[in-house]
Amino acid sequence: MTASYDAAVVGAGVLGLAHAYHLARRGLKVAVFERHPQARGASVRNFGMIWPIGQPAGERYELARRSRDVWLEVLRAAGLWHDPCGSLHLAYHADEEQVLGEFADEAVGHGRPCEVLPPRDVTRRFPAVRADGLRAALWSPSEACVDPRQVIAELPAYLARAFGVTFAFGTTVLGYDGPQLTTTAGAARADRLVICTGEDFRDLAPQAFADSGLVRCKLQMMRSQPYGDRLRLGTMLAAGLTLRHYASFADCPTLPALAARLDAELPEYGRYGIHVMASQNGAGEVVIGDSHEYGDAPGPFDNPHIDELVLAYLRGFLDLPDLTIAARWHGVYVKHPTEPWVTARPAADVLAVTGVGGAGMTLSFGLAERMTDELLGDRA
Ligand SMILES: Cc1cc2nc3c(=O)[nH]c(=O)nc-3n(C[C@H](O)[C@H](O)[C@H](O)COP(=O)(O)OP(=O)(O)OC[C@H]3O[C@@H](n4cnc5c(N)ncnc54)[C@H](O)[C@@H]3O)c2cc1C
Repeated sequence: MTASYDAAVVGAGVLGLAHAYHLARRGLKVAVFERHPQARGASVRNFGMIWPIGQPAGERYELARRSRDVWLEVLRAAGLWHDPCGSLHLAYHADEEQVLGEFADEAVGHGRPCEVLPPRDVTRRFPAVRADGLRAALWSPSEACVDPRQVIAELPAYLARAFGVTFAFGTTVLGYDGPQLTTTAGAARADRLVICTGEDFRDLAPQAFADSGLVRCKLQMMRSQPYGDRLRLGTMLAAGLTLRHYASFADCPTLPALAARLDAELPEYGRYGIHVMASQNGAGEVVIGDSHEYGDAPGPFDNPHIDELVLAYLRGFLDLPDLTIAARWHGVYVKHPTEPWVTARPAADVLAVTGVGGAGMTLSFGLAERMTDELLGDRA
């Protein structure tokens, strides 16, 4: 007999899992179809940073905070490692210190908890931070770290156990003509389809996305050896280059001068879209990145020079003793030039969600909650 579901989700990346969670919580019988034996797209290749501080004040920041709260509920219920360790943006130049001060002055009015710390407080609380030349840092308690490889591998078992979600791994969805679903493992029936196929967004909804304006972005990443308890960073770290990356700092009056200095002093970092961040997972591995190269056909091969640039900048703010790079990889996401995400409704019973760019881990559970409400309306 053909299996029958209230909703089918395509893609077991973070957006697919978050939609499956919210749909199942609303009482639907849900199945998730993933073409690989385990999801292995952007959702397992990232820092694991749930990063509200990167979102501009207002609706997007509120969504990120809501998303973080749902994430924490899910992580606790699923018994998965996570660390609500906050974030630290470090300033080693006067213009960076100025931007952090400008951001903090506005933040309180926008309901963002954060404060500028003097160097002695930073190095006392976070001893791995380089003290030479440190002028100040912006501390924010709102960010949380997950281990992307662990959550994407283990959340499916939790969703199956707690909410009866069915997972079909190694199964590609080929088409949907509501309610008939065609997959490489045969036919199924689903009253609704939610497409969360990341950079493969065109395959199942080509018309809807024909003029979407989405662009691909390739990012290079690295991971250190496991430090175990020998070295704990105590938070997630970023520095001056990151201030021109996230929209949240865009209105700081000193940002244009800071960006002009970075262009003059570090032109290669601009060319490869490099800004440098570090997070640390439960095994003590430090995840380090990243670069941003835009274009519809990202190359399959990585550029070792980019990794050298990232590590050189990292050494300027973080002291990682005996650093060995245990893994290198790249990830690809899709992003819209101006919109924080892109949705399409190719039919009344179909919703496609993608284009969350570099904020998919951050926004996933909040965005999926909103999309589920839209899809189901007042259905009990
Ligand atoms: C290097 C890197 C670092 C990042 N760091 C962060 C971070 O720290 N914090 C943050 O908030 N965001 C971060 N991001 C962004 C975040 O990882 C992405 O926005 C998010 O993972 C996108 O999730 P997704 O579910 O849309 O896509 P994906 O993870 O790509 O999942 C899509 C899934 O759909 C499957 N699929 C596609 N077509 C089909 C089909 N026809 N049938 C069945 N299955 C199909 C694919 O196999 C894939 O598993 C980072 C991204 C990268 C690349």
